[in-house]
Amino acid sequence: MPTKVIAVANQKGGVGKTTTAVNLAACVAASGRQVLLLDLDPQANATSGVGLEKIEGASAYGPLLGNGSLSDKIKATPFERLDAIPSEVDLCGADVELIRAENHLQRLRLALQPILEAGKYQVALVDCPPSLAVLTLNAFAAADGLVVPLQCEYYALEGLSMLTRVINQLRDSGVNPRLHLFGVVMTMFDARTNLSKQVEGEVRQHFSDVVFETVIPRTTRLAEAPSFGKPIIHYDPYSAGAAAYEVLAGEFCRRLGI
Ligand code: ATP
Ligand code: MG
Repeated sequence: MPTKVIAVANQKGGVGKTTTAVNLAACVAASGRQVLLLDLDPQANATSGVGLEKIEGASAYGPLLGNGSLSDKIKATPFERLDAIPSEVDLCGADVELIRAENHLQRLRLALQPILEAGKYQVALVDCPPSLAVLTLNAFAAADGLVVPLQCEYYALEGLSMLTRVINQLRDSGVNPRLHLFGVVMTMFDARTNLSKQVEGEVRQHFSDVVFETVIPRTTRLAEAPSFGKPIIHYDPYSAGAAAYEVLAGEFCRRLGI
């Protein structure tokens, strides 16, 4: 079966994209699947989150601009069955430079093609930057679907209509006819507040089955893990955060059919 590509995206900053990309990738890998994590954010948080260094020239930047192959950028992580393509500060320039390049929305899709065809990975997860600029649009053009993390706070739904509009535009214009909202995941849920429950209810009403049953709790362990370069299941395997991402990974794999 060809590799499925899922982009983790939300143009809003700090909603749990990277935490979800890293921990979902790690849990899916731990459950026996081969996973590729592609860090497409110049902030490189997913890169350090899986214990990799930010090394100049190591990112997707070159291949996106037609220099070298993306396959050569794949690194093994310390975690079994989890490989990654790291990011570093180079990628900052990609948004501006790609705009001038021919076929600028399809660069990532084309660069990924040989990796997908090789069939080593069941899923490739792309951690997107907090914007709807060219890097993110490249991820959308390459993806089978999007996972959108929503923080359980008052303005969670704001901005989602913009995201939906972009999905429709990319689909209708033929940039990516199969693009769809694959899943919404509620993050940083605080069971002690009514607000979290209210927001969850509202989001479920709005998106019904697209919303994953699993809700990610707000826990400091999840926020600490990246500074040790470890996904939560390796940093604190018996924590609530680890349990949540493991259950989410189960739901994710079932929905994806892998
Ligand atoms: P950006 O838009 O900057 O890329 P992001 O959407 O990738 O941000 P994260 O980096 O995953 O968001 O999370 C933002 C901050 O919140 C980080 O410090 C992270 O450690 C913390 N965080 C994420 N999820 C949780 C959680 N469930 N509980 C507690 N802290 C969390
Ligand atoms: Mg991030």
